[in-house]
Amino acid sequence: DTIGANLDRAVQAYGEREALVDVGSGRRWTYAQFGSDVEQLACALLAAGVGKGDRIGIWAVNCPEWVLVQYATARIGAVMVNINPAYRVHELEFVLRQAGVSVLFASLAHKSSDYRAMVEQVRPNCPELVRSVFIGDPGWDDLVAKGAGVSRAALAAREAELSCDDAINIQYTSGTTGFPKGATLSHHNVLNNGYSVGELLAYTEADRICVPVPFYHCFGMVMGNLAATSHGACIVVPAASFDPEATLRAVEGERCTSLYGVPTMFIAELNLPGFAAYDLSSLRTGIMAGSPCPAEVMKRVVAEMHMAEVSICYGMTETSPVSTQTRTDDDLERRTGTVGRVMPHVEVKIVDPAGVTVPRGEAGELCTRGYSVMLGYWNEPERTAETIDAGRWMHTGDLATMREDGYVEIVGRIKDMIIRGGENVYPREIEEFLHSHPKIADVQVVGVPDERYGEEILACVIPRDPADPPTLDEVSAYCRDRLAHYKVPRHLRILDAFPLTVSGKVRKVELRENYGS
Ligand code: ATP
Ligand code: MG
Repeated sequence: DTIGANLDRAVQAYGEREALVDVGSGRRWTYAQFGSDVEQLACALLAAGVGKGDRIGIWAVNCPEWVLVQYATARIGAVMVNINPAYRVHELEFVLRQAGVSVLFASLAHKSSDYRAMVEQVRPNCPELVRSVFIGDPGWDDLVAKGAGVSRAALAAREAELSCDDAINIQYTSGTTGFPKGATLSHHNVLNNGYSVGELLAYTEADRICVPVPFYHCFGMVMGNLAATSHGACIVVPAASFDPEATLRAVEGERCTSLYGVPTMFIAELNLPGFAAYDLSSLRTGIMAGSPCPAEVMKRVVAEMHMAEVSICYGMTETSPVSTQTRTDDDLERRTGTVGRVMPHVEVKIVDPAGVTVPRGEAGELCTRGYSVMLGYWNEPERTAETIDAGRWMHTGDLATMREDGYVEIVGRIKDMIIRGGENVYPREIEEFLHSHPKIADVQVVGVPDERYGEEILACVIPRDPADPPTLDEVSAYCRDRLAHYKVPRHLRILDAFPLTVSGKVRKVELRENYGS
């Protein structure tokens, strides 16, 4: 199916059920209303002269219009370019030029930044940009109004030209390890992945999914929106950007059955003063993903948030995104200690540096192949060739082991591995261990330069109680006898918060740079 055809089916089947709720503004869409608004916006884009394959940018924090733009662009075969709402002029210009964006949708909801001025600033350098539309401005209403005058036959004619394998999306990666790369994805890539994720969570039209993760990232737009609409479930938008309080309030008020987040978001929710007062009894399932999911945190999510069927997903933007997922009926050990097993219709292998598959239980680079692998990096054939080999295997840059039972454990990113005095140290293992320390709310471990050992271990800690942080002595005493001596942190920094990407991932690069000496 194309995304448009799949949405039509949902509108047919679930017309009067809720599709989308924006908690902040109180606006609500049934499937029938959502389908008709998407259609009108699609027609408006046709009227504005948007051709098949034209690039349409969206630079906005979470709002319902984001979702309308996602489906309307797919419906007419345009390529939506997700632009990180945290970007400033320099990065905006880079993306607009690199992707050759002709129409840009932007939202001013992000109070701290003046998007309008930034668009004007980059316009002279972006000759392909012919139009910018601000969501919530009269310009948006004008554009949408023009859709009413377009015949539905014109839309049908366009849809007849589309193929499931067409590029419809350029999604930029999180930029955790460097400058983001634009993964080009098709209907087939993202719709099948979103559908599979929803299947494994047993979504039905009774589900209401709270999505505090950004739409601009695959976690929101694929695992959230496409998983929802392919199952008739409802998307609940708690706030424009992540806010733990707004998220819990939305779960309670909208009786959500599913909640998403990267680990840092769940940690913030669990540690919110007043957490216990929220009624989260409607929750059944949800997803934690995006970065290493500490078993301690997963256990608390299961026990304290009623999410008995919560899943961990592992994947990357380039693979649409999910490659492995825990199943809702997995036991607690598998569901908290692994990233699950391979998704249906996807292949995974773990290889050594020579590309030879390693035995079960041994660590190597995780590679994946199947429908979910992107078409390529946009306009970067060389980079694509470095990542996807001749056999169509995507090399992820992540170290993993596959256990005897087929469940995968992520050891860490190849780039984050610390080499201390010749020993390979995986930050993940130490972080996992330190999460059990009573004074530690969250922790990140990085390697910092050291004259004697090449690299030394630095633990950056957010304390549970800011007035009573752990000392280096306490932390190293806690580790001694329980971890090999070369894994014991030799440096400690106490922080209020970690530097994050907009998708909520910790930028270890920045921790290394800022606290490394
Ligand atoms: P960039 O590629 O720009 O540096 P990024 O890799 O963080 O950024 P994404 O595509 O958003 O961009 O994230 C994919 C990566 O996130 C994976 O390669 C993996 O390292 C990490 N990841 C995702 N899910 C998990 C998980 N469940 N456990 C551990 N790591 C995960
Ligand atoms: Mg990556």
